[in-house]
Amino acid sequence: MPTVAVHNKKIIRTGMKPGNAMQDILSRQYYSHIIARIKKGGNVYSKNGITFYLTDSFGFCYGVDRAVDLAYATREKYPNTRLFLTTEIIHNPRVNKNLLEMGYQFLTGPYKGHVTVDELTAEDVVVIPAFGTDLQTLKRVLDKGCQIVDTTCGSVLNIWRRVESYIKDHFTVVIHGKHYHEETQATSSRVLKNPHGKYIVVLNMKEADHVAHYICQGGDKETFLKKFEKATSPGFDPDHDLEKIGLANQTTMLGSESLSIADHLKKAMLKRYGNKTLSEHFLNFDTICSATDDRQNAVMALEGKKLNLMIVVGGYNSSNTNQLCYISSQFASTYHIENFEDILSSEAIRHKPHGQWETVVTNDWLPKGPVNIGVTAGASTPDKVVGDVVEKILSFR
Ligand code: SF4
Repeated sequence: MPTVAVHNKKIIRTGMKPGNAMQDILSRQYYSHIIARIKKGGNVYSKNGITFYLTDSFGFCYGVDRAVDLAYATREKYPNTRLFLTTEIIHNPRVNKNLLEMGYQFLTGPYKGHVTVDELTAEDVVVIPAFGTDLQTLKRVLDKGCQIVDTTCGSVLNIWRRVESYIKDHFTVVIHGKHYHEETQATSSRVLKNPHGKYIVVLNMKEADHVAHYICQGGDKETFLKKFEKATSPGFDPDHDLEKIGLANQTTMLGSESLSIADHLKKAMLKRYGNKTLSEHFLNFDTICSATDDRQNAVMALEGKKLNLMIVVGGYNSSNTNQLCYISSQFASTYHIENFEDILSSEAIRHKPHGQWETVVTNDWLPKGPVNIGVTAGASTPDKVVGDVVEKILSFR
């Protein structure tokens, strides 16, 4: 369904494409000749003693591609209108800065401008990012009468449909995700659409194990609620709300961990309720986004290439890039950088180690002599950003 009539306006979801002039701008900003050449050569490229191994799948996914196209097409369609984004369109600094330069204003997030949702008018156009927005924000923008362009990815919409079906059947939604991430907040807000909707967000297997333990053996309710204080729906009662659970996930989590968590919770329900009535207590459907899965598998496929190091390019707040960093750090020295400017010299590199919030500078990162470098990028990273990184490294030889 391409459009939905609301408040005499329509939420535009499809049907807008950037025209030729905008396509040229997109191409100048995001296309990389060197990356195109490496892809053509089978994702391997050697020069002056450096061999780059690009993962088979990296960079812009279909959802991000579409969101960026829609944002650019919106500028073209509304050249003289105030344009807003509810927050970052995707978690990539280059893309968000380009949108700022095109006149977009951000209502929240790191690029937040001075206009608030309360100050919007019916003349304004508001773009919703690829990971969606929470229902409260959507309602406030709709109440202002703004034209909305919704770039929410189809894979995220699928999860919302699944979550709504769980709630309809009185199942509590267990979301494998980060409770502070925009996509998870948007998903959990869909749970609360229904007055009896309940959810709990688990970050990792350790937290899932805590839930599994409570399902099997109960425990101290206050301690449990304190632990998941920011990650449960209002009035959550683990004694009652963990009797029927349905699993969902934030699309950019580690796919293998989402599957293990589902399996672990299924075993807990089996232990508690037995096989006969399991389907009355546990539901799970694979909602892992294929683009995330492909990028994670592609990094794993580089294990065995005798890499000296791995470069992971993407926003520091990009969940899927952080997962790629985690995977590659299991088998290679890994540097997660946002762009070529983080490569300070052939001796020093600024990067964010997995699991840390702050960047650090590491010296002697690039070995002398022949070197094999694995390269990948998160789903919100344009080829141009990756190409600039490759060219900067090549400039040292
Ligand atoms: S990572 Fe997956 S869910 Fe997110 S925008 Fe890309 S395709 Fe869509």
